[in-house]
Amino acid sequence: MSMNNQGRPTGTGTSGFASTSGSSLLPNEPLLFEIGDTQHSGVDLPDATIDDAFLGGFKRKSPLDLAGLTEPEAMRHYVRLSRLNYSIDSGMYPLGSCTMKHNPRLNEKMARLPGFADIHPLQPVSTVGGALELMNELAHWLMTLTNTAAVALTPKAGAHGEMCGMMAIRAAHAAYGQEHRTVVLVPDSAHGTNPATAAFLGYTVKSIPANANGTVDAAAVKAALGPDVAALMLTNPNTCGLFEPEIIEIAAAVHEAGAYFYCDGANFNAIMGVVRPGDLGIDAMHINLHKTFSTPHGGGGPGAGPVVLSKALAPFAPVPFVKQGEGHLTLAEHPEGEHLGRITAFNGQMGMYVRALTYMLSHGGDGLAQAAKDAVLNANYVKARLSAEFTAPFADEPCMHEALFDDHFLEGTGVTTLDFAKAMIDEGFHPMTMYFPLVVHGAMLIEPTESESRQTLDHFCDVMLELAADAKAGNAARFTAAPTRAPRRRLDETRAARQPRLTWQRPEDLPRAAE
Ligand SMILES: *Cc1c(COP(=O)(O)O)cnc(C)c1O
Repeated sequence: MSMNNQGRPTGTGTSGFASTSGSSLLPNEPLLFEIGDTQHSGVDLPDATIDDAFLGGFKRKSPLDLAGLTEPEAMRHYVRLSRLNYSIDSGMYPLGSCTMKHNPRLNEKMARLPGFADIHPLQPVSTVGGALELMNELAHWLMTLTNTAAVALTPKAGAHGEMCGMMAIRAAHAAYGQEHRTVVLVPDSAHGTNPATAAFLGYTVKSIPANANGTVDAAAVKAALGPDVAALMLTNPNTCGLFEPEIIEIAAAVHEAGAYFYCDGANFNAIMGVVRPGDLGIDAMHINLHKTFSTPHGGGGPGAGPVVLSKALAPFAPVPFVKQGEGHLTLAEHPEGEHLGRITAFNGQMGMYVRALTYMLSHGGDGLAQAAKDAVLNANYVKARLSAEFTAPFADEPCMHEALFDDHFLEGTGVTTLDFAKAMIDEGFHPMTMYFPLVVHGAMLIEPTESESRQTLDHFCDVMLELAADAKAGNAARFTAAPTRAPRRRLDETRAARQPRLTWQRPEDLPRAAE
């Protein structure tokens, strides 16, 4: 087969592919393999002249099976796909517990500076002094904002940071002959990653109930503490959007019992620059740079979940970390002591470090505190306005950075929280977080973030109030049929999760695969 067949003969392989005008948003965007075919290539390559001996026996025995497309064909495919996507760049994204804030373009500009963007993790350390300087400064800010003694920068997501922090706790217990501590306490309002992390590391998870106010009682923690408890994992502000009022008493009780206090810091956006978690007695906390510090999120880029550590846990941090060498910074890769070893292959998400530090420096300390206060103000504004039609489980409390509602107001309407969320899609909004936290029936968790203007918040609230009134007026069909204006209707989510088809198969192989 020759590769010198640029493009496809017209009229083949494109049936049902009617977007040559470029204007239509087709929900059924074909796969690259369905647009192109394996007989053609997007480029003209000269025929290979080397003989087989040159390939040392590695000559392919089967066809390459890559779909051949021209550059515009490939580009249009991806641009069309991107236009099916909802993103923070296209509209408000009030997903609770996720802090979908604006990603400032300045961050992107800095991350693309060749001195940061083009360095390679295997480059000699002596050639990347600027990058080490930047990592050191980011670490300094993270420790300053949290009043902690050390930070592990390398974890690549919040959940990965949780694992890293809990591994440091496990290593500390092992170092002090406390391996019999096999239980981790987790409130039942916790994010699923908390019990998953503890269980993944071999701990037994013991649940702590939330009280009627949506927070955790120090008395409930004290009752569960014992000589077998390794740690408490608590989220603050918690997933009900509330600051834990007894957190200092809880931390003292945990330490008294010889355990460590892990704090899920994914909600740090509510308190950065205002409250230092180290002052509350936490020993380890991950910080999602992709939430609080505006680095892109979800499909927009990789996460980064640095973990700050108290003095007690600092010796058990993973490698590598930046340290002062003789007259210059260097990477500690094989220090003496009890450290965890590596938890990532290289040195973490450099591009995210650049973006996060850019965000910090462009705000300054006072600006970060202002952002947190504005995030809280915006959430309370939404909570106050929506309370006209919605019901809130903790109505009397002001909230932190997210407003929580339940589905009480939908009782008897035939509309569920899921239906309501789907109807929001038809109105141009990404839904809020649904059915989480689990302790609230039909939960709707709305986090507007500080990025949104008063006008956007008002538009969002107007739409939400109109939807709620319509549901109560008996127009259930609008909700149960939704979404009608999205590229897709409702998906069989169970089947998508249980029987995903993640790879392309040649049509001629499909019957065989189905057997
Ligand atoms: C987002 C989040 C996590 C997990 O972070 P990832 O980066 O998605 O792994 C953990 N806990 C809470 C409360 C969160 O909101």
